[in-house]
Amino acid sequence: MSHIRTRFAPSPTGYLHVGGLRTALYNYLFAKKNGGQFLLRIEDTDQSRLVPESVQNIMDNLKWTGIDFDEGPGKGGPCGPYTQSERLEIYKQYAQELVEKGLAYHCFCSSERLENVRQRQMALKLPPAYDRRCRDLSKEEVAQRLADNQPSVIRMKVPLEGEMRFVDEIRGPISIAYKAVDDQVLMKSDGFPTYHLAVVVDDHLMKITHVIRGEEWLPSTPKHILLYQYFGWQAPFFAHLPLLLNPDKSKLSKRQGDVSVDDYRNKGYLPEALVNFIALLGWNPGDTRELFTLEQLTHEFSLDHVGKAGAIFNIEKLQWFNQQYIIHLSEQAILDYATPLFEKEGWKIDPKAPAGYPVKVGTQLHINQEYAKSIIGLLKERAITLPDFVTQGGYFFAAPTTFDPKGIEKSWNPHIVGYVEELTRVFSILPEFNAHTLEQTVREYATQNNLKIGALFAPIRLAITGFTQGPSVFMIMQVLGKEESLARLAYALKTIA
Ligand code: GLU
Repeated sequence: MSHIRTRFAPSPTGYLHVGGLRTALYNYLFAKKNGGQFLLRIEDTDQSRLVPESVQNIMDNLKWTGIDFDEGPGKGGPCGPYTQSERLEIYKQYAQELVEKGLAYHCFCSSERLENVRQRQMALKLPPAYDRRCRDLSKEEVAQRLADNQPSVIRMKVPLEGEMRFVDEIRGPISIAYKAVDDQVLMKSDGFPTYHLAVVVDDHLMKITHVIRGEEWLPSTPKHILLYQYFGWQAPFFAHLPLLLNPDKSKLSKRQGDVSVDDYRNKGYLPEALVNFIALLGWNPGDTRELFTLEQLTHEFSLDHVGKAGAIFNIEKLQWFNQQYIIHLSEQAILDYATPLFEKEGWKIDPKAPAGYPVKVGTQLHINQEYAKSIIGLLKERAITLPDFVTQGGYFFAAPTTFDPKGIEKSWNPHIVGYVEELTRVFSILPEFNAHTLEQTVREYATQNNLKIGALFAPIRLAITGFTQGPSVFMIMQVLGKEESLARLAYALKTIA
């Protein structure tokens, strides 16, 4: 087989969808696995549906996930330009070639006429299709109408009988009767090609060997293969990926949840987790392994292990992956991802900030890197997404001013308060203020006073954090430092009635 080349060819009509990300990922993985190249091509021939910031969004998100293209907009390459609106002359020439060969024809039907035809077909419950009125116009008539500047499109001539057979790399042999295939418009009257012409011409000129795309393009494939035959070109291999489904097995839709990559990114999912999760929506490694980095996937991926059945987009599974990646990533790596979220809260990560509890400068807290990393280390096991570090970590940045009423009711009684008071004094004269010493001290104190350790741990936690649950309270005290911890205990003792 010639050198493998794949492409991701989004139409810039909106933000990158998770389905689009999967298509990009599989194309990337297949190319990398086989030592080939992966291209990005922007299919912007439908000018009415363009969303201006879309190309940038697609490129940003590919970059964020680590799916790097070898050739494409902004990067160049031997087969450029890689944006279809910059290739209009090329499509014109090829459409003309087909007209000259008698394999495509000018159609002068007005949109009103086409609409009437469609209405009639619908009334008769027939599938809408062009009635081929212009297919057999004489050469002279066509020449005359063109000379008169009558607007026209170019349509491909689909055989009236027979069927197209091909083998899909995922679905196996497919046959579609030509009767069910419309005389597709190839060139529109505005001089832009349709997707169908542009995709074939570009895949050929860009030497694409494998077209891996969503199942929704399967019905278009016979037209594409016919075009390859009409041009006398060798068609690439085709692989149509299974649909992405909602948990109720309907087609994945916005109505049931988030569908854009941005949504997940903004909600604090890590790119590693999203990529791992998306990789398994349709593909499996052939065994029970689930955790794969992008790099590992480039060694494992194969089309043989892509299934035909729709893949369910299960958000709980994505949460599980995210949790796994949070646990496994280094504190520094998580900090890099979480820094923008911290900064939104006014928590500025400042390499020059003094070690220990943050200091307030103006409206901002200046946070030492090591301090931030210790917090991440403590919260990591409990976080599902990045914002959890903010919502669960607030007490590392400000002392609690309120205390969980249930916690007060359960653990804060006059009998215990006396012990907490005494322990606070003991803490203040400890030779070392670290989690180990603190915990040892409390445990010994409990034994001496015949108390259950929980009866002391709980009020201390409440005083330090305001909550009844969280990571080890002694670790939290170690991170907060002696001064801050003692101040919090004193405040709680004074405030909680
Ligand atoms: N431009 C098409 C899309 O937006 C690409 C389909 C294909 O890969 O051929 O999905």
